[in-house]
Amino acid sequence: MDKRVNLLDLNHEELIRFFESLGEKPFRSNQLLGWIQRGVRDIGKMTDMPVILREALMQKASIGNLSLKEKRVSKIDGTIKYLFQLPDKEVIESVLMNYNHGYSVCISSQIGCRMGCLFCASTGIGFGRNLSKGEMLEQVMMIRDDIGRRIKNIVVMGIGEPLENYESLVGFLKAVNSPKIMNIGYRHITVSTCGLAPQIEKLSKEGMQINLSVSLHAPNDYIRTQIMPINKKYAIDNLIEACKIYTRATGRRVTFEYILISGLNDSKNDAGELSGRLKNLLCHVNLIPFNTVRGLKYRKSSLGKAAIFKAMLEKNKINATIRRELGSDIDAACGQLRRHVIKE
Ligand code: SAH
Repeated sequence: MDKRVNLLDLNHEELIRFFESLGEKPFRSNQLLGWIQRGVRDIGKMTDMPVILREALMQKASIGNLSLKEKRVSKIDGTIKYLFQLPDKEVIESVLMNYNHGYSVCISSQIGCRMGCLFCASTGIGFGRNLSKGEMLEQVMMIRDDIGRRIKNIVVMGIGEPLENYESLVGFLKAVNSPKIMNIGYRHITVSTCGLAPQIEKLSKEGMQINLSVSLHAPNDYIRTQIMPINKKYAIDNLIEACKIYTRATGRRVTFEYILISGLNDSKNDAGELSGRLKNLLCHVNLIPFNTVRGLKYRKSSLGKAAIFKAMLEKNKINATIRRELGSDIDAACGQLRRHVIKE
C-alpha cells in the first residue's frame, strides 16, 4: 500500500506545514499549487524546485492517486463517462457534460452508497468507503486536463451521499473554490443530497453559497418511505424545514429533484400535495424522467403525464422544469452509474 501523503488532501496551511517538515520555506507551497493549477501534477516537471527537493517530495508524497481506467463518449450528446481506478483497486465514476455553453463535471463522493434508494443503480452494489477530499478534487482535475478546457460547473451528484462524507466534502468545496486551486465560484457548484436534514443545517452555516439539490421524489411520507429508507429517519416536514433554514442563510433557492415513476408518484393529486408542501419556499422543482435500471420494476412516466404534473405545479406558482437526459446511451445518466456492474 502506498504510504505517501496525497498532497491534494491537504489544505494550504497543512501544505505549508508539510514543506516545513522537509525543512523548506512556506513559499514552496505556492510554487506547488501554481503547477497544479496549470495542470502539472508530475513532481519531476516542477522545475522551479531544486532537484533534491523534488526527489524528497516524490518519496514522501504524491499529487493524486487516480488513474484513468476507461472513458466512454455518448454518441447522442457528447457526454463522457470516466472510470477512475484508485490504489486500493476500487473504481469510481465521474461524468462530463456540455450544456448552457460550458462544461460541467459530475463527481462521486463515496465508493458505493448505503442510502438504499430503491430506484437507483448504486443500491445493491454495497458501500466501500468515503472518498477523500483529494480523491474528489482529482476527478475534476483529471477531466479538466483531459479536455484541456475550463470547467464551469461542478455537481456532486455521482455515486454516494455527499453529506454523509461531510468533512471531506467541505474541504473539497473550499479547494475548488480557492483561487489558488480551481477558482470555481460557489454559485457554480451544486451538492445533491437524499435529505440528511441536520447536515443541511450545518452546511447552511459554512458561509458558502452552494446550490443545494434535494432528492425529494415524493409528495408525502407514505410514498417517500417506500422508495427512500432515509425518510424513516428524517421525515419530509423535517427535511423541508432544514431547506428553509438553508435558503434563509444562503439566499439561494433549493432545487427539489423529483423522479417521475409511473403509477407511483406522478398523479395530479401528487402534484397538488407537493405544491402545498413547497408553498412559500424559495425553490425550484426539477422533474426527472426515471432512467431505466436493469432489474428494477419501476417505469418512466409518460411525457403527457410529466407535462400535466409540471403544469399543475406551475398553476400553484411552483417553478418547475423537466430535466433533459444526457448520456443515456453510456449509462451516464442519473442513477445509472455503475449500472454495468449490476447483475440482472
Ligand atoms: N446521494 C445524492 C447524490 C447521488 S444520486 C442524492 O441522493 O441526491 C443523484 C441523483 O440521481 C439523485 O437525485 C437521485 O435521486 C437520482 N437518481 C437515482 N436513480 C435514478 C434513476 N433511476 N433515474 C433518475 N434519477 C435517478
